[in-house]
Amino acid sequence: MSGPLDERDSRWLNEAQIGIDVKQGRSTDVVGTHVTRVLPTKGRRTIGAWCFVDLIIPPDADDPDPLEIGPHPHIGLSTVTWLFQGEALHSDSLGTEQVIRPGQLNLMTAGHGIAHAELSTPGGVIGAQMWVAQPEATRHGEPAFEHHESLPAVAGDGWEGQILIGSYGGAESPARADTRLIGMDMRLRSSPAHLQLEGSFEYGVVPIDNPVKVNDHIVEAGWLGLIDAGPEELLLETQGGGARVMLVGGEPLGERIQMWWNFVGRTKEEMTDAWRAWQAHDTDRFGPVPTRLARLDAPPPPWIRQD
Ligand code: MN
Repeated sequence: MSGPLDERDSRWLNEAQIGIDVKQGRSTDVVGTHVTRVLPTKGRRTIGAWCFVDLIIPPDADDPDPLEIGPHPHIGLSTVTWLFQGEALHSDSLGTEQVIRPGQLNLMTAGHGIAHAELSTPGGVIGAQMWVAQPEATRHGEPAFEHHESLPAVAGDGWEGQILIGSYGGAESPARADTRLIGMDMRLRSSPAHLQLEGSFEYGVVPIDNPVKVNDHIVEAGWLGLIDAGPEELLLETQGGGARVMLVGGEPLGERIQMWWNFVGRTKEEMTDAWRAWQAHDTDRFGPVPTRLARLDAPPPPWIRQD
């Protein structure tokens, strides 16, 4: 009997067409702390509004690096701090002094300008430091800081997790979101695990501790599996002990951003202004940060001629 495709047929057809772009993370250094930079990556600036994903994971898991990042400025983005191990003190120019521990979220929104510092306990930290680009509608606004002690738990077929930002399956994070997006910390418990997706979102799957097969493409720990908008379900397979996975996603930002140093903007002129304000100690834009750590100097932007 012939007839229209039923729901299952169309799902298989869609799955067959799901493109996964696999990108290797890049080892680098942030003020003495080893990180794996997952985003931005070659050929890709954003996933939804997510524009920066650093994994703070030491080469030797038993020896995490301490985090000691002195006062530095941000514009046009929110920083999303999420720890797997250890604890750190966040201080910022709003006067905030907030300790963060695993399972808690620090979300600092820069708007027109903020400065902050981060200092871990001597045992160091393992976790993720991520940025979300602010859209035109909010990026010139006031800075803000949120700390969330606990976040909603969610579970799906073969996995469980916590929603850092955005919503999933009827549960919603209390964290501020200026665009439609999702950030989740997932533990894959059985294989395969099924994840429902928003068809209008693009996604990044970032395995933390073990490789994960994402619709037949192997994504190593510290790598990125990129999924363009379209599919409504994802198949995540693991071997043996499961895996921890960070999931980031959102509606495509639809604004072309520029990133330099700790700034997200739209033009070089904007970033030059922010750079000058920081170097000039302009406390109207970037106020003092309550910390013992030394202020970070900005390098000159590469487009500025140094005489
Ligand atoms: Mn920062």
